[in-house]
Amino acid sequence: MTLTSRVHKKAPNISSLFCNKGHPDLLLVARQRSVQPHPDPESNQSDSGQSSGSVIRKSVTMPKVIAPVVSTETDDKMRAFAEQVFASETKGEDVRDEFSMFDVADDCPIMHQEMAHHLQEDEDNEKRKKRQQRSRTMAVPVACTSHASVAPVVDVEVDMPTYLEVPDFQRVAIIGDYASGVTMDDFELSCKGIYRAMAIREKYMRLCYQRFPNTASQYLREIEGEPFKAEDQVQPVFTPPPKDGEDPFDASTLPKNLGYVARMKEGVIYVYDTAAAADKHQPRDLPSPDYNTFIDDMNFLIALIAQGPTKTYTHRRLKFLMSKFNVHEMLNEMEEMKELKLNPHRDFYNCRKVDTHIHAAACMNQKHLLRFIKRSYRVDADRIVHKLNGKEVTMKELFQSLNLHPYDLTVDSLDVHAGRQTFQRFDKFNAKYNPVGAHELRDLYMKTENHINGEYFATIIKEVASDLEDAKYQYAEPRLSIYGCNPNEWTKLSGWFVRHRVLSPHLKWMIQVPRIYDVFRARDFVPHFGKMLENIFLPVFEATIDPHSNPELSLFLQHVTGFDSVDDESKHSGHMFCTKSPKPEEWDITKNPSYTYYIYYMYANITMLNQLRRERGMNTFLFRPHCGEAGAVTHLLASFMTADNISHGLNLKKSPVLQYLYFLGQIPIAMSPLSNNSLFLEYAKNPLLEFHKKGLVVSLSTDDPMQFHYTKEPLMEEYAIAAQVFKLSTCDMCEISRSSILQSALSDEEKIHFLGDHYLKEGPEGNDIRKTNVAQIRMAYRYETLCYELNLIKEGLKAEGNIPGGVT
Ligand SMILES: [Zn+2]
Repeated sequence: MTLTSRVHKKAPNISSLFCNKGHPDLLLVARQRSVQPHPDPESNQSDSGQSSGSVIRKSVTMPKVIAPVVSTETDDKMRAFAEQVFASETKGEDVRDEFSMFDVADDCPIMHQEMAHHLQEDEDNEKRKKRQQRSRTMAVPVACTSHASVAPVVDVEVDMPTYLEVPDFQRVAIIGDYASGVTMDDFELSCKGIYRAMAIREKYMRLCYQRFPNTASQYLREIEGEPFKAEDQVQPVFTPPPKDGEDPFDASTLPKNLGYVARMKEGVIYVYDTAAAADKHQPRDLPSPDYNTFIDDMNFLIALIAQGPTKTYTHRRLKFLMSKFNVHEMLNEMEEMKELKLNPHRDFYNCRKVDTHIHAAACMNQKHLLRFIKRSYRVDADRIVHKLNGKEVTMKELFQSLNLHPYDLTVDSLDVHAGRQTFQRFDKFNAKYNPVGAHELRDLYMKTENHINGEYFATIIKEVASDLEDAKYQYAEPRLSIYGCNPNEWTKLSGWFVRHRVLSPHLKWMIQVPRIYDVFRARDFVPHFGKMLENIFLPVFEATIDPHSNPELSLFLQHVTGFDSVDDESKHSGHMFCTKSPKPEEWDITKNPSYTYYIYYMYANITMLNQLRRERGMNTFLFRPHCGEAGAVTHLLASFMTADNISHGLNLKKSPVLQYLYFLGQIPIAMSPLSNNSLFLEYAKNPLLEFHKKGLVVSLSTDDPMQFHYTKEPLMEEYAIAAQVFKLSTCDMCEISRSSILQSALSDEEKIHFLGDHYLKEGPEGNDIRKTNVAQIRMAYRYETLCYELNLIKEGLKAEGNIPGGVT
């Protein structure tokens, strides 16, 4: 049964099932206790003193249903009304509305008067006490199924978190059996599996200096009977924007050569003290992921996501989370809105938001590109810009060879926008990167390497950055490509970056690696997959060991925040990653390895790289692959083990186990419903709203404004459409904006500035409403809900009497 209770700041109150194992029907104790939903090591001491432990025991008997006394007059009126309603049913649709007394529109707006009443600052104490009293007596629903003579005593165990700054709100809680309607055995089995899955993720995140939430770590330690140590938590490091007067392109500040040797072995680059040590494969003592353990862990997770009881359990938990949010919203919408209305200065428009997933080559919208092409022609018509069949040509000649004049170009003839033709056709979508279908124009305007050294591309990006700076509250994380076809790619890319000074505080750079080994191998550009990995990672290791050997690359790397893995996920490779898979140096066939194979080797190399860079006090890299846009659900499993956060995640819809794990791990998902709408999934079917309601961490991103957006502010367009289609509230939108900042690679300094000093703390404590405009009630709801789910896992393992650490 569901119960809602009104709770208060000083003695807040959540009906918690944490301790209620008895049969729910007969005995429930309503007890108010002051506890943290989870012991935060820092705030715990101060809270423990407030435990009141007052017990309310209410004895209640089965109420009789008494027919209300009604006058005949009222009776007659009702009958007349009923007849009218009945009559209206038989009439046309147009009049029926007047009589639809029994249903309320889905989006029932809150009346002005009601809101005004709600906004009244202080309710007098007298009223408050009365309400509290009433909520206590009403809190316990009564049911008696057997003998009326036995008066059931209903005891409700109520655990209450204490926060300083969360206004009163109504909490949703379930009283009774916590196993979610699955059998005790299934419940315990599921909890065991979920615990191990979470422990696996935690291990791989730490190894790679990626994030794992404190709250989940605390529960894992409790399950293991180990103390939680805040110092064990790791955080990635990002370069803050340059201070006034600081030159971000000054190579003289780069650290000195360490003299180490980096060499690839079995697809992973290791760091050795000397060349002799490298010959004997005696790497420096840095923890590295173990291939066989990784495969074991992966196989365990594959078994887990296919396990019947765990599927049922997680499916039910997710359904519950959805319903719980709906009830929370229904009960507290006004209180949340009240908080926001009373919050000075901040609204959705001046909340910082990050476009967490955008490709540099398509970061301008189609109109911007069109205008730029026309302008460049007016200025540079006689400039030599291209090499056509070995001959240098001017822009005028280039356009003539394409039978075009820029004056005649329109967004329609430019034809870079995705539409109906691209749905389920990634190949057609890729072709849209060529303006007017001409790859020459793509080379000229959207490449870093061309006859004009990528000048136009740099200018376009700087214009986009300048638009973001004008908008002030918007940031973006564009991806530039490294293909791994040639070891010089990094030098060329960083040369372009430094030459054109493509740096803006509003842009955080990422490197995307397309999964197109098969294309390179077929043309014999690389001898095996290992070479491709080496081309991608070795230059970065070398620049990390000896920054002066490649100063431009070293400077560029300071502004690179992570790696992405991109391509059409719906392509099947037919390869299964296992212990028998050939090592990358042996992978010399033209077939592409599987998604998981790519992911593992990217993760392993990023891990080694981060360990080295951490040791040198340099910024570290996150792994943020495109994942779950299409293709097999195992992609999401590989990212669960290796990625700090992902882009898309649509296929989480298909696996309740993974979806629940992404929820527990609070793994951020950058979603782009407009992009999906043109490629893989109609807008209305996008799971964004569903994920958001359930408490998965989602952010909104544009993916490719050139292909999908119309306006000058594509990120706002993305938010606006989502808000309209999904009827998001201001609080929802600000929550998504806040998540985008947390997910992003903005530096610690910037996050403190945008989110508040305590942004790393989880729950309402970490939220500064003055900066984020997210209601504290929402934060408390999210935090308590997460703690509740994590606690269930703990209870499940306790029930089985598992020895700490003995979970297999
Ligand atoms: Zn993308």
